[in-house]
Amino acid sequence: MSRIAKKTPGKPPKKAAAKQAATKKTAAVKPTKKPTKKTTKTSPKNKTIASRMSTDAIRIAFERWRELNPHPTTELVYSTPFELLVAVVLSAQATDVGVNKATRKLFPVANTPQAIAKLGVEGLKPYIATIGLFNAKAANVVALSERLLAEHDGEVPRDRAALEALPGVGRKTANVVLNTAFGEPTMAVDTHIFRVANRTGLAPGKDVRAVEEALLRRVPSEFLQDAHHWLILHGRYTCKARKPECWRCPIRDVCGFKDKTPGDETY
Ligand code: SF4
Repeated sequence: MSRIAKKTPGKPPKKAAAKQAATKKTAAVKPTKKPTKKTTKTSPKNKTIASRMSTDAIRIAFERWRELNPHPTTELVYSTPFELLVAVVLSAQATDVGVNKATRKLFPVANTPQAIAKLGVEGLKPYIATIGLFNAKAANVVALSERLLAEHDGEVPRDRAALEALPGVGRKTANVVLNTAFGEPTMAVDTHIFRVANRTGLAPGKDVRAVEEALLRRVPSEFLQDAHHWLILHGRYTCKARKPECWRCPIRDVCGFKDKTPGDETY
């Protein structure tokens, strides 16, 4: 029988009971923080001082990047899709240099799902202990190896949904693997690409997904395959977070950033 329907002596009058119930219901809801404007860790701080780059300007920028670096690729060292997948999972909140240092010792010992699964979490940890969040990453790498063995014959799937279903693999990691291991024109937006896309006005967006979609719309198709490497390298070495090096930037004249850092122009 419904507890609400049953009348009991001493029960408060209907109105008061309703108020009480409402109070009780409110109290049971998990307290929430005061609503704040939704932002991501990598919010575009510079969006108010960038003009949107025109289609011509975007084409010029990519032509220059291609001229300077015709065959860009990741700075992670790998030789198989599985090694790349492991390296990308390890690279979250870590540098490529740090990951390469760890995988240089790990891969000669274990570079297949079988070998990593056999190594186990405790066996893997010593190899990656210099990388941030290594406990969680060790668990994910072993779990994803076991999943690959159980569901994909030990192969890395060329499929976004299957990749994202693996432990420790999100959209960005799936995009890197699809692009770099399988040659698909995906756009893995990391902190560098997010900043460059917003700061320059190339593909402004309030979060990484919006920037990814804007880049896929705005980057000419002939540059899509390599675009994410050019953008990462540009953000990492020239359009740096704290102080962009505009004086030596190859796309200075077409960039929409209105507060360029001064200096003797190299380009
Ligand atoms: S380094 Fe300066 S000029 Fe070059 S893309 Fe970044 S903000 Fe624009």
